[in-house]
Amino acid sequence: MKDCREKTDLKNLSPPDLESFIASFGKERYRSIQILRWLYQKSVHSLDEMTNLSKKFREKLNLVSRISTLQPIRIEVAGDGTKKFLIELEDGNRIESVLIPDKSRLTLCVSTQVGCGLGCRFCLTGKMGWKRDLSVSEIVNQILAVRETLGGKRSITNIVLMGMGEPLANYSNTLKAIELMAHPDGFRFSSRRITLSTAGLLPGLEQLLKEKVQFRLAISLNASDEETRSHLMPVNRRYPMKRVLEVLRNFPLKRRARITFEYVMVEGVNDSPQDAKRLIKLLKGIPSKINLIPLNETPEIPFKRPSEERVRQFQEILMKADLTAIVRTSKGADISAACGQLQG
Ligand code: SAH
Ligand code: SF4
Repeated sequence: MKDCREKTDLKNLSPPDLESFIASFGKERYRSIQILRWLYQKSVHSLDEMTNLSKKFREKLNLVSRISTLQPIRIEVAGDGTKKFLIELEDGNRIESVLIPDKSRLTLCVSTQVGCGLGCRFCLTGKMGWKRDLSVSEIVNQILAVRETLGGKRSITNIVLMGMGEPLANYSNTLKAIELMAHPDGFRFSSRRITLSTAGLLPGLEQLLKEKVQFRLAISLNASDEETRSHLMPVNRRYPMKRVLEVLRNFPLKRRARITFEYVMVEGVNDSPQDAKRLIKLLKGIPSKINLIPLNETPEIPFKRPSEERVRQFQEILMKADLTAIVRTSKGADISAACGQLQG
């Protein structure tokens, strides 16, 4: 029998990958559909629980494959109901997932990497640096682990890929994980309820143009001119904002259908009325929605959050230009579960 590490983790396979894997046993496609349902709809932990597969087939599968699971090692609950799950991976690395209740929605924020290599100066995950990419199974197991703690009382309604890491820097695994999230035999999330947030990695964005995209796109813009953006987000030197926006302008209309722009507001850096006016010009021609996120402060970060008045003023300028601008006060700040506070 194969060593555990050599066995294929079934949760690392996208639906088409699983189909080919099953075909290598001479089995039909519908067997792979049955397995998908067991894994992501019934959350089984072992092949033996897949009772509609023959015993012989399960035995064969058991020799070469396995089903990984992850468990939270700590759950913290914030005053506003936000829960932060600290999850330990098989190699001892730790990641965080955050569950955010909001009226009828229950949004899970998942991580795609251990740490992040892009080093945005306002982000604690960025301070950690990049440790490694998450596998497909480590991304989807966050959903399963959190769902299990809910015990069927409530369902996760939305997924945001906004936890630790830069999803487009772990392109292939992230897209496979999204395939599982959106698949009718997988998690069955509508593509409108999956949001991928990126700092704007151009090669990834260009690649997306060639694929069937099953999610909403959010771009962390965070500045209205190149110089300020490069100061806050060093990645802007490699992939300047102008080129990122150009690619978004060329997205086919359906895919562009309202791109979300995240704008972390930093006192004295990007929060002036001039910034708001420049932002209006920049976003011309892109159907957009702007999320204004007043900076979450921490002692390790050399920036301040602007006053509420300053944020409101900024928002008003955008709204007068007919842009949708929403102020997002991050939830879970008292347990460091808010945007940019995840460190594992
Ligand atoms: N790497 C991706 C997704 C994870 S970061 C990205 O950058 O888009 C998710 C969001 O948290 C980003 O929009 C980022 O700008 C925001 N963020 C990071 N640090 C923050 C902080 N200190 N306060 C508020 N938002 C922050
Ligand atoms: Fe990475 Fe996003 Fe944090 Fe920037 S904001 S360091 S891209 S996780």
